Amino acid sequence: MTEFNLIAHIRQRSARLSQVLLGIGDDCALITPPTGQVLAVTSDTLNAGVHFPHDTCAADIGHKALAVNLSDLAAMGAQAGFCTLALSLPSPDASWLDGFLDGFLALAQTHQVALVGGDTTRGSLSINVTAHGWVPPQAALRRNGAQVGDDIWVTGTLGDAAAGLAQLLGGEHTDAALLARLNRPTPRLAVGMALRGIASACIDVSDGLLQDLGHICQASGVAAQVQLAALPASPALLALGSASALYRYQATGGDDYELCFTAAPAQSHAVQAIAMQLDLPITRIGRVVTGEGVQAYDADGALWQPNAAGYQHFA
Ligand code: ADP
Ligand code: MG
Repeated sequence: MTEFNLIAHIRQRSARLSQVLLGIGDDCALITPPTGQVLAVTSDTLNAGVHFPHDTCAADIGHKALAVNLSDLAAMGAQAGFCTLALSLPSPDASWLDGFLDGFLALAQTHQVALVGGDTTRGSLSINVTAHGWVPPQAALRRNGAQVGDDIWVTGTLGDAAAGLAQLLGGEHTDAALLARLNRPTPRLAVGMALRGIASACIDVSDGLLQDLGHICQASGVAAQVQLAALPASPALLALGSASALYRYQATGGDDYELCFTAAPAQSHAVQAIAMQLDLPITRIGRVVTGEGVQAYDADGALWQPNAAGYQHFA
């Protein structure tokens, strides 16, 4: 396969969606944005050996490459619209590409995201996706709106992906439910949109809860107190050990792609109604206070000091 065969194949498998006036095949795509909304734009790269183990299957890589970008749109309260895909491949492997597209395009279809263009080059395996969504300008969920006295909430459960990765890297027996969270994260787009007008600040948990919540605190000029015993855990995670042994996965492990947000206490019923309606747990894990930084407390009320609050490149 040549570069042009690869592109033709991607084009042939991509869905045509109504917001796309012109998709893959010209110098640019042409898109019709909805009137009265602004574009939300985000870009994330996955490098083999850094963001996923080298032997990860192609469909999982395809899913994750799009999911991590859609998670950023979710954290902004945006509706997903369209994306581009820049692929760097060591060789023109048609069956790898088909596996990748299986994972990528299935998730794109679930959220009605159009693949409208990209770039295809030779190099070590690396995938960059840029995703665009829309949101009314005043409704976007920014990081800088947290107020002293707000509750801190998190969707779903935390720590599964980090625990799954630890099993993989340790060469241990791996748990399928944990690995599924690592390889197939679920972007919380419906929650993000439902939180418009309710959350005061929001971020997606990609690099570790305490670190990501720290970004909200810094942008908002506030501090956070987190109760570790309140952090939601899946049955698969709980099966691994005592609650305190799991804190490092839940509080500092990455790759959760859940939403962490703040909201005034008066919004608590509205938050619980969203959880019911979307059939997804949303758990109150702490409170916004004056000061700076994030403090985490264990079940005895003692301050908990992790080795690192989360993942950082070049650290
Ligand atoms: P140009 O040289 O004008 O940048 P390319 O030959 O790189 O164009 O790409 C041709 C068309 O195919 C463009 O519409 C581009 O957006 C699209 N394209 C290239 N690679 C990909 C890819 N990996 N996924 C989706 N579309 C792609
Ligand atoms: Mg061109």
